[in-house]
Amino acid sequence: MNYNKKTVRDVDVSGKKVLLRCDFNVPMAKDGSGVITDDKRIRAALPTIQYLLDQGAAVIACSHLGKPVSTFESYRKKQLEKGKDEASITEEKWKKSLSELRMEPVAARLSQLLGKPVILADDVVGPDAQAKAAALKSGEILLLQNTRFEKGETKNDPELAGKMASLTGSGGVYVSDAFGAVHRAHASTAGVAAYLPAVSGFLIQKELDFIGGALANPKRPLVAILGGSKVSSKIGVINNLLEIADTIIIGGGMAYTFAAAQGGTVGDSLLEEDWKDYAGDMVKKAADKGVKLLLPVDTVIADKFAPDAQSKVAKAGQIPDGWQGLDIGPETVELYCAAVADAGTVIWNGPMGVFEFEKFAAGTKAVAEALSKTSAITIIGGGDSAAAVQQLGYADKMTHISTGGGASLEFMEGKELPGVACLLDA
Ligand code: ADP
Ligand code: MG
Repeated sequence: MNYNKKTVRDVDVSGKKVLLRCDFNVPMAKDGSGVITDDKRIRAALPTIQYLLDQGAAVIACSHLGKPVSTFESYRKKQLEKGKDEASITEEKWKKSLSELRMEPVAARLSQLLGKPVILADDVVGPDAQAKAAALKSGEILLLQNTRFEKGETKNDPELAGKMASLTGSGGVYVSDAFGAVHRAHASTAGVAAYLPAVSGFLIQKELDFIGGALANPKRPLVAILGGSKVSSKIGVINNLLEIADTIIIGGGMAYTFAAAQGGTVGDSLLEEDWKDYAGDMVKKAADKGVKLLLPVDTVIADKFAPDAQSKVAKAGQIPDGWQGLDIGPETVELYCAAVADAGTVIWNGPMGVFEFEKFAAGTKAVAEALSKTSAITIIGGGDSAAAVQQLGYADKMTHISTGGGASLEFMEGKELPGVACLLDA
């Protein structure tokens, strides 16, 4: 995939209407009160929005929020699949589920952060959006309703994409800054690019520069640290990084499948029997390619999966029955920290242990600390990894923490990202 894409700086947007796809998919309080519990994603979109407004563009912003079900019929089906009985499924409940995913709270917060009014449309491409878009002036911002209220959105329906594009009138521009959604080929993330000149905003540009740069042309040695829960969810990442990294470090729950593949006993640790052969093959493949593959030499084991579990250190592959590995051990920490010390680039995906429990966060914390001390370019991808680095207080010490969980994983897997591929090449 070509990561070298045109950005907002490469097009003239002054006096034009710009359709801007943002990632405003913010977490909301579970009680339906409309309270945004973390506005990080809205803040992350501000530089591009502010730039466009300063350039004299009229900004038509849009995003999805949560997973609204766009027709009552599919709502009914989904509820039945969940085991709800027919009589309890009503149109009122469906409408309520939709009203909780309207963009009002996002518009209010965005307006607060920008310090200017945000006009909100009642629909996505309907009469209200059309009227408000037509009346929109230079320096003003309009926010459309949740793009997933339209059933054509997730189907990448060309008709819907065309309608979205036509909100910009003639001479419009499409700017994509929703990195968290670029791995999806939807109408608002990819389809519209067929109708308008399409460029990236600053957020996507930064992701492409750092992740794309590290994958395509890394400062070496390139060290990949892979952890998290399962081997099976990281197959693509391991495969791709095995082709480009100089060293691969394995930690987290997936390490036990590797240990088992080498004949070790892993007690009650996370083990994917079906992936044992694969793990064994990876070790061989790494050796053939001359890639250093490091596995834990010791591990912190617990008598249950709980924050207050009893714990002790065991040798890797020698975990007694009734015990499970929840973190890498102290010798492994030393080994891994030494391995990143002289790296040119480090790509990290997946925590080293169950960092959510303080008792088992030491491995993840030590690795984060080691990264904060290297002069290497440090790149963190994956939703939980980003959360871990944030929670442990190392966020501002990393070169780049990706804003897209699923998107960053697919990026590291070397997959084509439809929301990037559709943008104009630089
Ligand atoms: P990411 O979202 O960064 O891609 P994953 O979703 O693959 O990361 O993995 C994160 C999860 O892995 C965390 O919730 C963490 O608790 C869990 N995890 C890490 N090590 C272990 C382990 N030894 N046993 C069970 N779960 C683990
Ligand atoms: Mg995750």
